[in-house]
Parts: sequence; structure tokens; C-alpha cells
Amino acid sequence: MTARLKGAVIGCGFFAQNHLHGWADLDDVEIVAVCDVDEAKARAAAEKFGITRVYTSAKTLFATEALGFVDIPTTMETHEALAGLAFAHGVPVILQKPFAPDLDACRRIVAAAAAANVPLMIHEDFRFQNLSRTVRKILDSGELGRLTFGRLSWRTGIDVYSNQPYLANVKRFMIMDVGIHLLDLARFLFGEADGVFCRTQQIKEGIAGEDAATILLSHEQGATSILDFSYATRRDPDPFPQTLGEIEGTEGTLVIGADQVLTVHGKGGTRRIAVPQDGRAWTREPWTQIQDSVVHTQRHFIDSLRSGVEPETSGRDSLATYALLEAAYLSAASGRLIHPERLV
Ligand code: NAD
Repeated sequence: MTARLKGAVIGCGFFAQNHLHGWADLDDVEIVAVCDVDEAKARAAAEKFGITRVYTSAKTLFATEALGFVDIPTTMETHEALAGLAFAHGVPVILQKPFAPDLDACRRIVAAAAAANVPLMIHEDFRFQNLSRTVRKILDSGELGRLTFGRLSWRTGIDVYSNQPYLANVKRFMIMDVGIHLLDLARFLFGEADGVFCRTQQIKEGIAGEDAATILLSHEQGATSILDFSYATRRDPDPFPQTLGEIEGTEGTLVIGADQVLTVHGKGGTRRIAVPQDGRAWTREPWTQIQDSVVHTQRHFIDSLRSGVEPETSGRDSLATYALLEAAYLSAASGRLIHPERLV
């Protein structure tokens, strides 16, 4: 059997619980230590997941442990310093999205990883959902022909502010929190984008940033895509956290319906595909789709470390996703079409 790769998790907050469950599902990985500046959170995670070593300082963690990797599911303003510590100790890093507060910080982190020759992946999980992989396979089969149009729609009214209260105070809110996932998914499904137009809206009163946005992308291979997403949508049933939408090609159409049901219409007729969930013991609706994808993202990171192949959402690759985000904010502020390649 392959030796277990020893890792640590820095940040034991809300979403990290999914990471800790996910790592426990991977037989060839062992989380040997957890770290959180809030000791109670670190201790609670250690107890729940049977992890013996607890740290409140990342510096002490790296100085003490011999690690094969570190997982950093903290919020973005901590990423540069924490990843920098890992690079200084030659420890590969998987960082939660969003990468960093701005494109310059992302660039600095990528440069630091390259200078230290240490692998860096961004935990971008939408493209690792069972749904996204199934859609990608259908596109690869050529059944839809040449892609002409796509719409990815993520709209909900869930109270995001109770689990993640910091979101009410951030100036760059919805594109940074959810749009970044859809921008990455759009790259994954439709290829690189060379034009970005965006309109943002603040619908809920009393928050600092936008809680709805609509982005139009022109893709290098010819398709147009629309990404629309909102935390201010009153809908029953509420589809949270599902991405719905449609993809059109010269030969057919694929509709991404609720509950992971795809309808594919091509030359051979129309068929429905119900994309299964993994059936893990710890996942809970409505989060199952996302929770499954956390484990797939982690699996991809570990496989890429073992094989020495750059992960799909490496730090370097994720600069292109982040450039689309910056372009979207620039477009919303200026009312103009922005060319993201000029930003990278
Ligand atoms: P959180 O505030 O609940 O957790 C962050 C934790 O990190 C806290 O416990 C905090 O004490 C700890 N921390 C901060 N600085 C630290 C440091 N220097 N050293 C050690 N610990 C430190 O935040 P959250 O809601 O779990 O969000 C974390 C990230 O996860 C965000 O970037 C968010 O966007 C992302 N997220 C991703 C998804 C997804 O689907 N991929 C879903 C939800 C949240």
C-alpha cells in the first residue's frame, strides 16, 4: 500500500469541517495536526476527527511538524502570509478560494511558490462536482457540436450571513464569493474568455457589497456565456447551492436542471441523465453536491502531488480565473467591456 501522506489543516472554521471530513475519506492521507488562532476551534476539530496535535500558531506548526502538504481553508486575507510560511518550509499548499484580496497578491503568491519550487493549488471545487465532470464528458464526446452559448445560473435566498457573517461587510462580495466559482466553471466548460462585461446589484439593504451580478463572457473558441448569480432571490424550491443552466452547440442542447438532472438533446434524440451523488456518510442536504466536490478536489490535489503533474486549478492557472474576476469588477465600475488578458 502507498505510504500515507501527512498533512495539516490551518483554519478550523465553518467550511473547514467539510475539508476535515473529506481528508478522513482519503485512505492514503493522514491529517496529523490542526491549527487555528482560535484555540477552541482547533481543539474541537482535533477531538471530532481524532487528530492528536493542535497548534494556535502556523509558525510553530511548520517549525515542529514534517508535513507532506498543508490545507489552508482560512479566508483570503490570511493566504499570502500562511502560504509564504509553507513555501519557506518546502510544504505543498492547497488554498481555499478566493485566492487573495487582489490580483497583485495572487501574482505574489504564485511567484513565491515558483521561487520555492513548491506545488500550489487553489481549492476551486465547482469544476470537481460530479455534475460538472458529467457535463464536460458530454461536451468532449462532440454530441453538441461546436459550442455557441452557455448560461450558468446560481440564484438563492438562503441566509448566507448566519454561517459566514463576514460577508455582510465585504465591499467585493458576490463575484468574490460565488462568481469566482462560476468563472472557473465557465473556463472549464467553454474555454478561455477574451471579453468580460458585468453588471452588479446590491439588493439587500445594509450590506457593504454587491449581492447579485450578471456577467457576459466571450470565449476564444466562439461561445458566448452568461453567468448570473444572486443571494437575493426568493424562489420555491430554493435551488441552493446548485448551478442550473444550459449549453447550446451547433448540433444540440444540454440543460442542467435541478437535482443534478441533465437533459441532452442531440441528433440521436433526447435523453435524461440523473447524475448520482457519492453517498458519503457525513454529507447533508442541501450541501451534498458541494461536500462531494470537496473530496474530489482533495483527491485531485493528492494525485497531482504524487504524480508530479500540475493540478488543474494550480496557482498559475487560477490567475486566469482571477483576471476574469478583476475584469468583471472593472467592467461593473466602468460600464465597459474588459479584455482580461491585458490584466494577467
Ligand atoms: P471562518 O471564518 O468560519 O473560518 C476561518 C478560520 O480560520 C477561523 O476559525 C479563524 O480563526 C481561522 N484563522 C484565521 N487566520 C488564521 C491564522 N493566521 N492561522 C490559523 N487560523 C486562522 O471562514 P469560512 O466561512 O469557513 O470560510 C473560509 C473560506 O472558505 C473562505 O475563503 C470562503 O470563501 C471559503 N468557502 C468556500 C466554499 C466552497 O464551496 N468552496 C464554501 C464556503 C466557504
